[in-house]
Amino acid sequence: MPEGKIMKALSGFYYVQDGDQMIQCRGRGVFRKQKITPLVGDYVEYQAENDREGYVLDIGSRKNELTRPPIANVDQAVLVFSATEPDFSTSLLDRFLVLVESHQIDPLICITKMDLLTSDDTKRIEEYAKQYEEIGYTVLRSSAIWEDGMSTLLPYLQNKITVFAGQSGVGKSSILNAIRPDLKLKTDQISSSLGRGKHTTRHVELLAIGSGFVADTPGFSALEFIDLELEALPTCFPEMVHYGEQCKFRGCLHMNEPKCAVKGAVENKEIQSYRYHHYQQFYEEIKSRKPRY
Ligand code: GDP
Ligand code: ZN
Repeated sequence: MPEGKIMKALSGFYYVQDGDQMIQCRGRGVFRKQKITPLVGDYVEYQAENDREGYVLDIGSRKNELTRPPIANVDQAVLVFSATEPDFSTSLLDRFLVLVESHQIDPLICITKMDLLTSDDTKRIEEYAKQYEEIGYTVLRSSAIWEDGMSTLLPYLQNKITVFAGQSGVGKSSILNAIRPDLKLKTDQISSSLGRGKHTTRHVELLAIGSGFVADTPGFSALEFIDLELEALPTCFPEMVHYGEQCKFRGCLHMNEPKCAVKGAVENKEIQSYRYHHYQQFYEEIKSRKPRY
């Protein structure tokens, strides 16, 4: 049976790419009885009716799946944060990082609008960027108005399915336009699918960027920790995983437990206090399941 990847879902059709062929498919497989809907990003088996049409028969097992936008097998999320306008927020960045890490998706931090910074502001942002790099994250600095300002991102998009994420106005559409100028997306076209009240949108499409694929609709527009278990929260802070191995209690949640190595590392400034502070906030939020956003 031929196999391919669903690139686009629209009006009940799944567009399956198999090599350089694009087959327009309807669903007609065992997965329908299991009430599984094919998603963009799915690897599927299909049956061809002719060289353009066919049926999806089976869906390969998924590495993960997002609901907003509906997309499966996401490898990477580019967290787009502007250095200014809107202001750089470590609290929001940490929230995105936790959401992404908890879906087994690799984050890549991209700080945009670097051109708008004064030299003092550049120092401040650079300080943050270094702190995130010390944790182990990759941090790119970019600007839409620099010549080649986006080309640093391109190698990171190869051989993966990537979603962009970040607040409205940070520059996500500008990045996509820079790397796929043929698309000529209006800079508000992408953000409109992030717009409040439009969460029912089912349309999402993967765009080919070299050997990689990028979702045309930003991910993680819902910022609540809906599925995250309290016990999993420490695993979403890589530096805490490191120090947590030395806590007295196994399964230490680094809150009120005695001889907690994570709290020790915060006191010694080996862990940034704002990171720990966000951890505490998220902990309380998950405990009470009351979203702040
Ligand atoms: P999105 O909502 O995240 O898709 O953001 P947009 O790409 O629509 O960008 C929002 C606004 O910021 C637009 O007016 C862009 O022209 C502007 N913008 C985006 N990136 C940059 C940048 O690197 N430097 C400057 N100066 N402006 C930018
Ligand atoms: Zn601990």
